[in-house]
Amino acid sequence: MPRDYYEVLGVTKDATQDEIKRAYRALAKKYHPDVTDLSKDDAEIKFKEVSEAYEVLSDPEKKKLYDQYGHAGVNGQFGSGGFSWDDFTHADDISDIFGDIFGSMFGGGFGRRQQTRSRNSPRQGESLRYDLEITLAEVLNGKTAELSIPHSVSCGDCRGTGGKDGNTEVCQTCKGSGQVQRVSRTPFGNMVSVGDCPKCGGSGRYSKERCPKCGGAGRLNVTTKVSVEIPKGAEEEMRFRVAGKGEAGYSGGPPGDLIVVVHIRENKDFRRDGMNLWSEVTTTYPKLVLGGEETVGTIDGDKISITIPPGTQIGGVLRISGKGLPKLGQGVRGNMFVRVMMDVPKKVSPYEKELLSKLDDQAGKRPACKPKSKIRQKLEEL
Ligand SMILES: [Zn+2]
Ligand SMILES: [Zn+2]
Repeated sequence: MPRDYYEVLGVTKDATQDEIKRAYRALAKKYHPDVTDLSKDDAEIKFKEVSEAYEVLSDPEKKKLYDQYGHAGVNGQFGSGGFSWDDFTHADDISDIFGDIFGSMFGGGFGRRQQTRSRNSPRQGESLRYDLEITLAEVLNGKTAELSIPHSVSCGDCRGTGGKDGNTEVCQTCKGSGQVQRVSRTPFGNMVSVGDCPKCGGSGRYSKERCPKCGGAGRLNVTTKVSVEIPKGAEEEMRFRVAGKGEAGYSGGPPGDLIVVVHIRENKDFRRDGMNLWSEVTTTYPKLVLGGEETVGTIDGDKISITIPPGTQIGGVLRISGKGLPKLGQGVRGNMFVRVMMDVPKKVSPYEKELLSKLDDQAGKRPACKPKSKIRQKLEEL
């Protein structure tokens, strides 16, 4: 179980974004490899811990999830192994402290985008995003989503090399570097530019015969079935990472990940407010005044009877406990709030008309600001 993020950064729950940033910068200085007394490994563990806390608390959306659900609320934001440097998006906030050392420190794992990219070094494939829409009923019960993901995989016949039976040789044009220098004459003198080798396309290796299965691409387009567990109580924009189900890697690099982003479909009967649900029930004037029963649907799909208390106002709200949505990954459920509305009939029978006229006469005689019990008494006398 990771430590509390607020504790890690040494800030209180109501700290402003400025205070959170200041706290993180101070800790970044403390664990800088040039000044810390800790070993490189220990410094990285500490620095990673504070960076994880900062990644969450500096992002209003993630902070909200963390405040509401704790670590369970934000775990889905990171890979299956938990927070890694690839998840860190705030290198800019401390680049003045770490400068260039940042890219090389801690084994160079920090900030993938700062790596130098040569096309013939192994690179991870691109990650894919899948937007998954789920219903409120699925938020209630959780869901195992079975997805069909079109993506590329490394060709097995040529082991991703693109050469027949995997046979390739070092490209003679670039001597295996994948890059060639071009010299062009300009008014300012000779300009030397470096570009991808035209013979091998930058891979540094060349195959005389192409792999017949992938046509020399080294990768194949496939559709893979992926199953993703969406927990009870899932929230809008919640992310789930499925390792290795993105695009194939390059030059023997690992495949990218699949990121599943959850969206909650609008529901015509219920509006979600965190763990609570809001709905409406329509009743009659007599029931508002005298009290009565109405039937409402729940998100479970049942119909339940609710009691309208005497003297309920139009727009009044009734609470049905435990009929809301579950807390993330747990059984505890929020409440359902039912707003009581009134249906005014457009047509009435002669008898109803007579009753309503009598009621109106009576209401006209009723002194203003009478206590409710007296009003009810008069209505009962009708
Ligand atoms: Zn192949
Ligand atoms: Zn080449």
